[in-house]
Amino acid sequence: YEGEFVMEKKGLLIILSGFSGAGKGTVVRELMSRWPEEYALSISATTRKPRGQEHDGVEYFFKTREEFERMIEEDSFLEYAEYVGNYYGTPARPVEEHLAAGRNVILEIEIQGALKVKEKYPETPMMFTTPPTASELAYRLGGRGTEKPEVIEARMRRAIEEAEGCEIYDYLIINDDLESCVEEIHNIVRAERSRMKLHLSELEEIRKELRRFTRKGE
Ligand code: 5GP
Repeated sequence: YEGEFVMEKKGLLIILSGFSGAGKGTVVRELMSRWPEEYALSISATTRKPRGQEHDGVEYFFKTREEFERMIEEDSFLEYAEYVGNYYGTPARPVEEHLAAGRNVILEIEIQGALKVKEKYPETPMMFTTPPTASELAYRLGGRGTEKPEVIEARMRRAIEEAEGCEIYDYLIINDDLESCVEEIHNIVRAERSRMKLHLSELEEIRKELRRFTRKGE
């Protein structure tokens, strides 16, 4: 008898939220560079203006309000939300393509969008990242000491709002050291992909195979 129980290769959606400016981007880039076959990043559309060195199609697809609203009407988004006066949304098509190709897709989105994704895809693990201490957050938000105290205070006030409601997330990831944070997320993703409820059709195959085997052996 030769045979093999095969696990389906469909990718998993992953929600990653956390204080803006606190280093989520670095974590995501590291996951993608270490396991390029396993992860893909979803590039969001937004109506906010590019900052600094940001380029269209790299960090975001930068859209006008009219363009964004047209995309909403055309049902192009997996989810979208309004955040601090701008629209942000996840284009659905690329996400679906990555998932079908077996890649996990990381959605770096805020909480309103996260809740909408969870509603549509309840199996999506939700992770919230935070620096280990408030002073470390202040340090990171302060451009490592280059920003004025008022700017840092305003960003810290925003962090308080961003932490609002985060107890509904499945995982809290303390981003102290990059290496261990990346490992931790990767381990969670691997475990989540093995969940029984994601593999019911394969389980059925395994059962069929078992029955065939016993019949042959009779
Ligand atoms: P920023 O303007 O600092 O790049 O992003 C502001 C917030 O919007 C961050 O919390 C970021 O995670 C979130 N965000 C980015 N893209 C999306 C998206 O496609 N959908 C939602 N709901 N939030 C997003």
